[in-house]
Amino acid sequence: MAIILDGKATAAQIRSEVAAKTAALKEKGITPGLAVILVGDDPASRIYVNNKKKACAEVGFYSEEIALPATTTQEELLSVVDELNHRTDIHGILCQLPLPKPLDDKAVIAAISPEKDVDAFHAVNVGRIMLGEYRFLPCTPAGVMELLHRAGISPAGKTCVVVGRSNIVGKPMAMLLLHENGTVTVCHSRTPDLAAVCRQADILVAAVGRARLITADMLKPGAVVVDVGMNRDENGKLCGDVDYDNVEPLASYITPVPGGVGPMTIAMLMQNTLTAAGG
Ligand code: NDP
Repeated sequence: MAIILDGKATAAQIRSEVAAKTAALKEKGITPGLAVILVGDDPASRIYVNNKKKACAEVGFYSEEIALPATTTQEELLSVVDELNHRTDIHGILCQLPLPKPLDDKAVIAAISPEKDVDAFHAVNVGRIMLGEYRFLPCTPAGVMELLHRAGISPAGKTCVVVGRSNIVGKPMAMLLLHENGTVTVCHSRTPDLAAVCRQADILVAAVGRARLITADMLKPGAVVVDVGMNRDENGKLCGDVDYDNVEPLASYITPVPGGVGPMTIAMLMQNTLTAAGG
């Protein structure tokens, strides 16, 4: 029986810590402000934006949604970002991705001031993460590290395997484990024997986007299992990348889906916005 890494409870704890620090910052006349740009009417993006606004209200931030039509041009979008970059009441800016075509995600990320880039997607912030001199970390890998820390799990001296190499999850995840002295292997769709690599992991992080890809035979008994995946199974039920029912009895710690890494992502966004405001 594994110990559950409860992201829902940990995220609530982090939000209450952020709320306390926000109250102290407000006494100095600073209210952290987060601007969220939403272009078009993708239903999933709408849910994510609403959740972020709700979290902002809970911790006492000012939040502003800039909802733009799908017909917005690249120039119009960049000028919105430019205006937000110059506003003193806005400390964090994020643009909900993916953008409707033909808008260019990369150009928008590049236009956000690195000091207000609370998603930590800008090349300057990505570079700082490589150097280990960061102010912001991308929210999902930061949330995973926070879950590990608060459970007293250290990557130091451990074999860590990250499955997935995206810029927003897999690569920064590997870098953070490396900074904390894990010995890290990154797997991807061209890894020849994924199961054999996973079986070496003391800490296994799955960030793939394939329902139940990680099965019990791929686990070293006693491993810590972190499931970043958010997928729908054949019945439309939310599930992770890990075959939870069969993996959980073998693991020492495991994150559930839902209620694991997901809630941590928004909690870390609140933390980053507080940091951007000087809190
Ligand atoms: P991407 O699609 O950008 O990346 C997926 C990665 O998985 C790629 O590196 C890909 O390899 C690799 N991959 C795909 N198939 C396999 C396979 N069969 N074996 C090994 N590796 C494979 O996804 P993201 O990183 O953006 O997201 C990953 C998952 O995490 C998704 O389910 C997403 O919904 C979820 N997510 C959850 C968040 C949360 O808050 N909980 C936040 C962000 C994402 P290659 O590079 O070779 O193509």
